[in-house]
Amino acid sequence: MARFIFITGGVVSSLGKGLASAALGALLQARGFTVRLRKLDPYLNVDPGTMSPFEHGEVFVTDDGAETDLDLGHYERFTGVAARQTDSVSSGRIYSTVLEKERRGDYLGKTIQVIPHVTNEIKDFIAIGEDEVDFMLCEIGGTVGDIEGLPFFEAIRQFSQDKPRGQCIFMHLTLLPYIRASGELKTKPTQHSVKELRSIGIAPDVLVCRSEGPIPEKEREKLALFCNVRPDSVIAAQDLKSIYEVPLAYHREGLDQAVLDAFQISPAPKPDLGRWEDVSDRIFNAEGEVRVAIVGKYTQLEDAYKSIAEALTHGGMANRVRVKSEWIDAEIFEREDPAPWLEGFHAILVPGGFGERGTEGKIKAAKFARERDVPYLGICLGMQMAVIEAARNVAELSDAGSEEFDHEAGQKRFTPVVYHLKEWVQGNATVRRKVEDDKGGTMRLGSYTAHLKEGSKVAQIYGTTTIEERHRHRYEVDTKYRDALEEKGLVFSGMSPDGRLPEIVEWKDHRWFIGVQFHPELKSKPFAPHPLFADFVRAAVDTSRLV
Ligand code: GLN
Repeated sequence: MARFIFITGGVVSSLGKGLASAALGALLQARGFTVRLRKLDPYLNVDPGTMSPFEHGEVFVTDDGAETDLDLGHYERFTGVAARQTDSVSSGRIYSTVLEKERRGDYLGKTIQVIPHVTNEIKDFIAIGEDEVDFMLCEIGGTVGDIEGLPFFEAIRQFSQDKPRGQCIFMHLTLLPYIRASGELKTKPTQHSVKELRSIGIAPDVLVCRSEGPIPEKEREKLALFCNVRPDSVIAAQDLKSIYEVPLAYHREGLDQAVLDAFQISPAPKPDLGRWEDVSDRIFNAEGEVRVAIVGKYTQLEDAYKSIAEALTHGGMANRVRVKSEWIDAEIFEREDPAPWLEGFHAILVPGGFGERGTEGKIKAAKFARERDVPYLGICLGMQMAVIEAARNVAELSDAGSEEFDHEAGQKRFTPVVYHLKEWVQGNATVRRKVEDDKGGTMRLGSYTAHLKEGSKVAQIYGTTTIEERHRHRYEVDTKYRDALEEKGLVFSGMSPDGRLPEIVEWKDHRWFIGVQFHPELKSKPFAPHPLFADFVRAAVDTSRLV
């Protein structure tokens, strides 16, 4: 049966709880343990699928089709363990389940209350699959003291009581602010935050303290004394240059040892950190740099394309170069010639997105890449825009467009080269949707198989002709236009197994121009860069040598 590590946060938000959890998972793996990471989010949305990327950053999609928090992306990138639907839950989901049960009469006429009904639902969720791994790491979103978080804190408190002694520990992440004027690192906010936690019955076993610099011995002792933890369980989490340094840095600070001590696992198995040493080496000893332009819509918030930024970094690591990604707002190209903006980049990436805004600019970016023989990677909407560009400017279908934009505008303006998909096959089942269906969870979501064309560029890159990739979209390229486009050199090199849905297109006579209907960035890892990103960056390196 799994041991449970509950990770909470205090003082301020955005301390990197997700990263700390992911890094701890990686360190436990390095000691030979199996892990699974879970996120419990106190907000009331049923899942982040309907939240704006500006609000919440990227939506991370799992193989089994859940739309989840971006922290699950960190978990996967650090541990390589594929996240599942049952690894992410919100208050909204918990309440909607409880209310469904109430309507069905499952509670046999009882009054439904936060304790025990909501807390029981949370506890059941935490325990799912507890027999499968050595350690289950559960991160609670938000900070201690948030109103919405209370049922989760109460549930984890109860959960640790329900289990035999020593099977659950609590790790609390806080901030030690540095006061420049007095040159001091302040421990008081951490003391208050731990006090708050203890007032709801949770005593942390390990404190992870974010700070700009090292924690002096005096402050460490003070924290240990006032927060009632052992001095060697006060872990300094200093700011680092790269997130991929986190596992090694936290290991040096003794995090994994402190956790194993808290569980009284002795002797602790020796860690093998070779994987992370190699990752660090590739990041810090890169030779050269390539510049990649990302032409998108949600460019003000880096978290909106988190996995793409990370996958590009991984692609750089595969080639031992640094990738400098620069975000360009696609709307600029609707007013200005893209050439002066894009010249000087070694590759162009057009990411996914929703809605019409900025799409004419993305089409121009695709045109620039095609005409100038610059490596182009189009992801989801980025593939759809590349196909529309090809239809308009090469196959003489001047009013080609996407039905998505006509639906949004409420009028028919385009020939729908990209159309709304209403019926498709997933595994052995047929899925059906209507245009007016709910916005949440109704897309083609999760992992689907694609068959690649023998001898195509993508088959060569993947080294196989059958792949599985993750999807999140409503619209598809229409095979009606396939012959007309292939005649002009746009190869449909990846198709769904039934041959009805185009999954990949590539220009035959181009150095590197690939559009994919899925999201390869979601499966890339620092120690296993995704082949498409690795090869895209390799192509960018080649371009950099030409200019
Ligand atoms: N808006 C497009 C669709 O729904 C693309 C989605 C995406 O890029 N993830 O098909």
